[in-house]
This record gives sequence, C-alpha cells and structure tokens, in this order.
Amino acid sequence: MTVLFWDIDGTLLTTAKAGVFAWNDAVRELTGRDFELLTVRIAGLTDYQIAVRTFEAMGIEPDDTLVRCLVDRYGELLPGSLPRRQGRVLPHVREILERLHLRSGIRSYLLTGNTRAGAAAKLTHYGLIGYFPDGAFAEDAGDRSAIAERALQLARRAGPVSGGGVFVIGDTPHDIDCAAAIDARTIAVATGGYSIEELRVHAPWRAFDELPTPDEFERLIDGGADLQVGPPRTLSA
Ligand SMILES: [Mg+2]
Repeated sequence: MTVLFWDIDGTLLTTAKAGVFAWNDAVRELTGRDFELLTVRIAGLTDYQIAVRTFEAMGIEPDDTLVRCLVDRYGELLPGSLPRRQGRVLPHVREILERLHLRSGIRSYLLTGNTRAGAAAKLTHYGLIGYFPDGAFAEDAGDRSAIAERALQLARRAGPVSGGGVFVIGDTPHDIDCAAAIDARTIAVATGGYSIEELRVHAPWRAFDELPTPDEFERLIDGGADLQVGPPRTLSA
C-alpha cells in the first residue's frame, strides 16, 4: 500500500492569502485591536502556532483558551473570506489527484497544520474535498511531527503500510522535517513560501519547482515505493 500525505497551503492550492481576512477579523473580535497577519512569516506553521505568534506579536500572553478561541473563530469566518481573493489549485494537482483516485493500492490523506474546519473550508472552496476522505490536522500548538504521527496511525488503521511507500508532499522545511520524523520520503515543491534552494537545505527525497505531470508523478512514487534503503522497514502496526 502506497500512502501519500498532502500538505494544503502552497502544495495543493493557494488561497492568495484570502484567509488573512478571516484571521485579522477574528483577532479584532477577540482583542478589540487591529492586527496584520502579513507582518509574520507563517508558511509551514500550524494554525495554533500562528495564533501563539499573533498574540506574542501583540504583547498578549498566548494562553491556551485564547489560542483556541482565535483558531475556532478563524475557522468559522474562513468560508466567507475565501471568495475575497482569486486563489487557485496549483499546477498538476487536480490531474494527479484524479489519476491516483482511479488506482487501487494508493491512498491520499491530508497532513496539514490547518484545523479540520479550516482544511474543509479550503478544499471545499477549491473543489478538492472529494479526493481526501480523511487526514491529520492541527489540534494544539504542538509540533508538526505530532500531526505526522497521527497521520501515520490513521493510514495504518486502513491496512499495512510499508516504509518505502510513504510520501509527504509539502512546500516548506516543516513538511520535510515532519516527514523525516515518520521515516517518509518528502516530495518538496517550491510553490509556496520557500525556494527550491531553501528546501534542498533540508534534504527532501525529491524537490521540484512545481509538482510534475501525472505520468512523472506516478513514476516517481511507483519507483520510490520499490526502493529499499538499508534493511526493509515494516511500519505496519
Ligand atoms: Mg504548506
């Protein structure tokens, strides 16, 4: 069984920063103060980590309740803010997902720093929700590798997962590092906030300017799943 874990922002799609409207509005509702999210580099951070950074930047103690309130309110406002910018699905994404959807032996899951609500809002708006029956999401301000662990557990519940056949597709060093934490191979794409040179510093399995064509992508994962580096690792539970 080949398992693909997909990041959302900068990998599957770009909202053209439409989510910033919802974020800033949620901050204003909660604190009574104006805030500009664009002043903080957030690519690769989880929604909860962005909330912590937001409050720190405003000089407010980021206690757990406040952080959860902000993330929850953002999730409620997000569907209304996505149409305010012309975002798009990134190159070859829809074609690849459509191709993989038709194959048995391959399953795609989300592995994202978005909350479940935020992810659902974005994938619904851009018409990708049908390709992802489930995924692992941010549930607290903890490390992204904890999300990766939950993603792997999710995949294992559906059947045996072999070490060489687990891939993370993402656009930031955080994705590469969280893939390493679960012994997955990263297919890194420079379609988000990081250049291909910045990504290569973190030693992804492969790095591209954008996702390759469906034919190339299939060759990549089919070849990668057959590769065994060192003794075979069995990750099935
Ligand atoms: Mg991303």
